[in-house]
Amino acid sequence: MFDKILIANRGEIALRVLRAAKELGIATVAVHSTADEEAMHVKLADESVCIGPPTARDSYLNIPALLAACEITGADAIHPGYGFLSENARFAEILADHNIAFIGPKAEHIRIMGDKIEAKRTAKRLGIPCVPGSEGGITDDDEAMRVARDIGFPVLVKAAAGGGGRGMKVARTEGDLSQALSTARLEAKAAFGDDAVYLEKYLEKPRHIEIQVLGDGRGKAIHLGERDCSLQRRHQKVWEEGPSPALNANQRFDIGEVVANAMRELQYIGVGTVEFLYEDGKFYFIEMNTRIQVEHPVTEMITGIDLVNEQIKIAAGSPLTITQDDVRFEGHAIECRVNAEHPATFRPSPGKIAYYHPPGGLGVRVDSAVYQGYTIPPNYDSLVGKLIVHGRNRTEALMRLRRTLDEFIVDGIDTTLPLFRTLVRNADIQNGDYDIHWLEKFLATGGMDPV
Ligand code: ADP
Repeated sequence: MFDKILIANRGEIALRVLRAAKELGIATVAVHSTADEEAMHVKLADESVCIGPPTARDSYLNIPALLAACEITGADAIHPGYGFLSENARFAEILADHNIAFIGPKAEHIRIMGDKIEAKRTAKRLGIPCVPGSEGGITDDDEAMRVARDIGFPVLVKAAAGGGGRGMKVARTEGDLSQALSTARLEAKAAFGDDAVYLEKYLEKPRHIEIQVLGDGRGKAIHLGERDCSLQRRHQKVWEEGPSPALNANQRFDIGEVVANAMRELQYIGVGTVEFLYEDGKFYFIEMNTRIQVEHPVTEMITGIDLVNEQIKIAAGSPLTITQDDVRFEGHAIECRVNAEHPATFRPSPGKIAYYHPPGGLGVRVDSAVYQGYTIPPNYDSLVGKLIVHGRNRTEALMRLRRTLDEFIVDGIDTTLPLFRTLVRNADIQNGDYDIHWLEKFLATGGMDPV
């Protein structure tokens, strides 16, 4: 097992990793930018190292500074959390060259899944169903038109290097295609430095359903059920739940088996998420995330399995000891991502938290790194924390969510708590009757207009 883990991240995920490490008896090193001197992960870690100025490029993404921090502290492993360097294959290789363990999958798998064209090709080869689309990248407009006519409009132009919903453009008709291609290429170039794009059939009313996997790279891989992340704004998840209100046990078992078999064949190491769109009873692969995800607590709440603990043990070379039959799904969990943003305009609202009171009680978990008096810096994402509730069934989880949202107080800044208070009372949400476009439509039709 590792002696000391350096956590190359900040915020709630840094705390999440720190907790898992402490329970395993492993010492922890926090790294931080000058904007994060007062951050909770710095206060709770055994040691901390300042790695640079506020700009992420110069601190949390600064590989030489992270290596130096390992050197100074004697850390023998790095946990990258999510975002930042978590899906940087080069980083994983550099750590290997320095004899520092990367708590994540093989660089090769990060690289394949980081290129969405390559990821789709691999998924197809492994027997995972994919969205109809171009075989690979599309370079010229005539070829794009041929493919689009073949799969049928509307089509979606997507960036091969995509992430965070950027570089995605819908073409509803033939007339829209050339504009969608050039806008997506420009956006992709600006965001990722790579203008490769590909085409996919645009699904009109899918749900986003993702399967959590765990593999040990030694021939063992299991799935831990699904999370339904259909409630999104600008392709960003807002509310996640599991099990999905749209699936029955057989469907869950079938898609889970397909994914677990694929991961076994790939000899995948660690935690991962295979993401699908789901429409009319069919699954369509869109991408795989080769890291721990923001919404992983949903799975932890319904399975009782600590994903970060498993991730660390596997990275240290332990075989997977949980079998598929050991995995039991109990009850229902819902996670709300509470952001420091105005609940209707979504304008970021960094600043000082004047008063903070998180909810509590049975089946309630708050993963957050804020505290009363803490100032949320403007430099990073706007997540205040994640509220996760668990109930014996979906009705109980919703009831508990309503109660905890009313109890949750964050004063001094705007948060999206009022949005969730509205959503939990909405009939469509209560019925589980929503797709990936539901929230945008709800907001566009005045669902959150100030009264
Ligand atoms: P990113 O890596 O940028 O998050 P994804 O491929 O995971 O991109 O897609 C993000 C979201 O975009 C999905 O959850 C879904 O809402 C939407 N999306 C992606 N592909 C399609 C598609 N073919 N049809 C309709 N919506 C899509």
